[in-house]
Amino acid sequence: MKVITRKAELRSWVQKDGGARVLVPTMGALHAGHLSLLDRAREKAGPNGSVIASIFVNPVQFGPHEDYDSYPRPLEADLAACEARGCDLVFVPDAREMYAGDASVLIRESNLSTGLCGSSRPGHFDGVCTVVAKLFNLAQPHAAVFGEKDYQQLAVIRRMVRDLDFPVEIIGGPTVREKDGLAMSSRNAYLNEKERAAAPVIHRALRFGRDRILRSGKSGGLSPAQVLAGMVLMIEQEPLARIDYLKMVHPQTLQPLEDFGEEGFRIIAAVFFGKTRLIDNLGAESA
Ligand code: AMP
Repeated sequence: MKVITRKAELRSWVQKDGGARVLVPTMGALHAGHLSLLDRAREKAGPNGSVIASIFVNPVQFGPHEDYDSYPRPLEADLAACEARGCDLVFVPDAREMYAGDASVLIRESNLSTGLCGSSRPGHFDGVCTVVAKLFNLAQPHAAVFGEKDYQQLAVIRRMVRDLDFPVEIIGGPTVREKDGLAMSSRNAYLNEKERAAAPVIHRALRFGRDRILRSGKSGGLSPAQVLAGMVLMIEQEPLARIDYLKMVHPQTLQPLEDFGEEGFRIIAAVFFGKTRLIDNLGAESA
């Protein structure tokens, strides 16, 4: 497995590489969720293609009071995990390598990224789009794999690829969870013991909401607002949880749903436990 820290070196590797390339962008602190994306990438690339992982904690997608400095960076363990998973190349630039000191171009998606995490984290998706576009330009992948755990991010990236004509197939991978339902996240490491014990309430509430919708059927008379109200009560019973947002949205447009219709739904949540903000989501059939 090759480890590359320089953009120029990645470019020349890509120029010599004749096969299909599948990229998995990450911020490191890899867990089983990331590894499942690497497996999906391997499957997609086939035996003759290449799997490229990137590990880069992207400063541009963090707000000024967020956890950029404290974000975990266990690089050796991450590289070992990539190697064990059969990655061909890991790209690990630092921020100065990625961005010119006077970089002045950002990519902004201006529809899907405005609500949900976009409201709570202004500028976050500009940072995500910009870094993903740069990674696509550098690695020139044929496909890239992103987790459904970050559902809004996946939708925003699909839109960017469509609207800017990136020749990259975007593949979504299902959310990988701990045994108690908590979605795996590098940020789970910030939780103290009590917060960790409380955090599965997000998934319990999501399941509760989804099951009510699916049981009630379309004519069951439940509105999105009623389902959400029940979920809020459930989360509020957990004293350590503080809801940032909890929404029922259209699975593609991410617009709030007034009624349940043919096109399905996605329930999306961000909940604080102490200072740690965790996100999760569930659709009719998702993990
Ligand atoms: P991150 O390192 O948090 O930027 O995540 C890198 C990629 O891994 C993103 O596409 C995430 O959506 C995905 N990811 C993070 N957590 C999970 C999870 N629990 N299951 C599946 N994919 C995940």
